[in-house]
Parts: sequence; C-alpha cells; structure tokens
Amino acid sequence: MSKKKAQPAHISFLDSVSRNFDKAAVHSGLPKGLLSQIKVCNSVYQMRFPVKVGNEYQVIEAYRVQHSHHRLPTKGGIRYSQKVNQDEVMALASLMTYKCAIVDVPFGGAKGGVKISPRDYTTAQLQSITRRYTAELIRKNFIGPGIDVPAPDYGTGSREMGWILDTYMSFKGGEIDAAGCVTGKPVNQSGIRGRTEATGRGVYYSLREAVSYKDDMAKLGLTTGMEGKTIAIQGLGNVGYHTGVICQEEGGATIICVAEYEGAVYNENGIDIKALAKHRKKTGSILGFKGAEDMNQRKNVLEVKCDILIPAALENQIRLDNAKKIKAKIIAEAANGPITAGAEEILLKKGILIIPDMYCNAGGVTVSYFEWLKNLSHMRFGRMEKRFDQNTYGNLVGLVERMTGKTIGQKEKKLLTRGADEVDLVRSGLEETMVTAYDQIRMVMKRKKKVEDLRTAAFISALDKIGSDYLALGIFP
Ligand code: GLU
Repeated sequence: MSKKKAQPAHISFLDSVSRNFDKAAVHSGLPKGLLSQIKVCNSVYQMRFPVKVGNEYQVIEAYRVQHSHHRLPTKGGIRYSQKVNQDEVMALASLMTYKCAIVDVPFGGAKGGVKISPRDYTTAQLQSITRRYTAELIRKNFIGPGIDVPAPDYGTGSREMGWILDTYMSFKGGEIDAAGCVTGKPVNQSGIRGRTEATGRGVYYSLREAVSYKDDMAKLGLTTGMEGKTIAIQGLGNVGYHTGVICQEEGGATIICVAEYEGAVYNENGIDIKALAKHRKKTGSILGFKGAEDMNQRKNVLEVKCDILIPAALENQIRLDNAKKIKAKIIAEAANGPITAGAEEILLKKGILIIPDMYCNAGGVTVSYFEWLKNLSHMRFGRMEKRFDQNTYGNLVGLVERMTGKTIGQKEKKLLTRGADEVDLVRSGLEETMVTAYDQIRMVMKRKKKVEDLRTAAFISALDKIGSDYLALGIFP
C-alpha cells in the first residue's frame, strides 16, 4: 500500500496562494490558457542598491512585482521587513489582483518589498532608503499615477508615502497628476481622510456582514450581530489596532486577548484597546498593562477560546502544526495569507468560518482608490455639495417645523442638517463596497453548490471579473 506523503508544516506563501487558486479555477469555467495567464506574475523587478549607513555602505535588496496588467495602473503596498523575499512579494502581488477585482477597484495587482528591519535604522537612514528605492522605480518606469501606484504595508506608513511622493515630484516636475503616484500619503500631502483606519474599518464591516446571516451563525452556534462577541487579535499594528477599536466602539464586541511581538495579554471581561496602545507607546510593550493579565507566550493568542480570531500580523501563522488547536468559530484574515492551504483544510473540517484576506482586508486598497481619484480630480470630496445639502436639509427641517408647529432641539437639528465631509463620504463608500462584495461572494456560494468556503467563492468572484476583462480585450477569444 502506498503511504501518503506527510505534508510539511511549512509550505511557502506562494504555494498556498497557488493551491487556493487551483481549487477555485476548476469552478470558474474559464479556458485553461486564460487561467494560466491570470495566475502568473507579469513583471518582477528585483533590485540591489547601496545606501550609506554610518560610515559604511550597505547593499539593500528590494523588489516590485506587478502581477496583472489587465487593468492599469497596478496597485499594492510596499513592505519593509527582514523576511521579504521574491516569492513573498509575488504572492502578495497576486493577492492584490484578486482583492481589487473582488471589491471592484479598477487596478491590477502589485506589491513591493524592501528587505530591512525598520527598527535597525534611524529616520534619516529610512528616508534615504525610501528615496533611493523610489528613484529605482522611476528609472525602470515602475511607478506613476497611470503605471503602478504603491501604498503602505507592513513596516511602512504615511511618512514613507510622503517621501515617495516628494522624490517622484522632484524627478517629474510639472506632471499634473503626480500626486496620484502613491496613496496612503499624509492628509496635508494630498492624502485622504480615513485612509489610516481604512483596512481596520473594512475588517470590521466584513465581520459585521458575516455575522449578520442567521443561518450561517446558527451553523456555528452563534447569534447574529457583533454585540458581545469575544475577539482575539494577533498584532496591534495599524490594522490590528483600528480593527480592535472599531469592533469595540461601533460593534460592541469584547476584545479578550491581544498579542504583539513581545507577548500577549488576556482579560475575559474585555481589554480597552486605546488604553493598551497608549501603555505600549509609553512602556514599549503591551505586557504589564493594568487592564489585563500577561500570558506565557505570544502564540497563545491563536489558541484562545473566543468567537472571532483576527490574525493581523504576517502570513503563515496558522499551519499544519497548530491548526487543530484553534478554538475560534470565525477567523477574519486581516493580514495577508495568515492561514496556509493545508491548515485551511483542517479548519474547514472543524466547521470554522474563514473570512478570506482578499476580501477581509480590502478596505485599505478601496480607500486608496478614493485617494487616487481625489488626486486625479484635484479636489477634496464633499467640497461641491456639502453646503448645498446642508441648506436643503435645513429648509426641509424648517418646513416640517412650520407645518407641525413644533421645533426640534439644536443638537438634533445639527445632526439632521449636516452635509457630508470627506471622511463621511470615504466611510460611506467603504461600507457600500464591503457590503456589496460580501453579497457577491455569498451569491457565488449559492450558485455553485460544490463551493463550500468563502475563499474559494471569493476567488471565483475575482476570476469571473478578471476573466471577462481579458475576454473583452479579445486576447482570449
Ligand atoms: N497594503 C495594503 C494591502 O495589502 C494596501 C494596498 C493599497 O492601498 O494599494 O491591501
């Protein structure tokens, strides 16, 4: 009898993405050649450049991968991490293509990576590395508002995006749409309000949608709604932090466990995320926080008994070696690729509902799209209509008051007659996007009886859209 070969606990991130793609591709109905074209990364730019650090020159390894050119520009973040390698950036770039398709953001997917640990460098050194990386991208025509538009990712934020914009502008003086060459910029440097919290807010909306279906929740033995759901979060970076705060403040959920690089903390009655983040800023650690108990090991967060587990750090966190120990009923993939393909099979057999990364964390790129549109239109959202709406609502309220002979309080009046600001419109657009995309993914599951998990359904939804783009181009008749 032939023995089944044991699967290694670690399979590469790229292999996981590839296995998930193949699993969905059989249901897509697209021709084989077209599927092969969609799957591969179109352009991989690997670079090495010198940067002066102290008295020495260091050679920095970096990448930019454009996965698909079926829509332009290509889009995706830039990661600064010691673990960056070509395969990882290729996997992340591929996910960006599917992510954009799922939320109807008209971009191809891309991703960048610089193999450094930001903690090892001063701000000035990080600035030199970022500026040099940008110059390399310009040199090979790998950046531009209509070419490829980077954004923040693990280890980068609005500060780095500001440096990228400034470098781009100094090379491309006079280019009228230059501000659209990068997103996630500081608000006073052509950024948009609501971008920083966008990924976390999107994770919240994805969860809110998932828990709103009675039949889906009944299968898990849960009631509908976010109120009172217990949550464990791995990672208190930008995504983990905002997800936690919004789930707590807007959803009424209870965050019982949080893990970071230095350890994990637990409180079954709930942890105040804002207070925990303040404590970390002050002391450099989440440990020793008055509102929670320290746990033995940071990996314990994954095995905590809770309703919802939110991995919001890096890929390959839930693997064959720990998948069986997961006790959560729902996993929301705020990070990209936190579950390996092998581990997913185990989790699905256990009946766990997995909200896949390419939908769950798409809030970031959705608001990046709004920022890019704002840059191309050269105008803040809401500028034209805010006062007009305000006056119209004011007139309506006045009319009702006159007709009824009653007046309403000033506070209530202000709320009723308010015109939308930029941040209101960004949140409204993001909510609409996440609600519609979840609906589409669920429709796929209804249509294809053999598809039983959200990731495969999300992939099929993406393949439908990308495939029809290619077919419309007449490339695959
Ligand atoms: N890095 C984020 C992601 O993985 C955002 C990308 C973007 O805004 O372009 O989705």
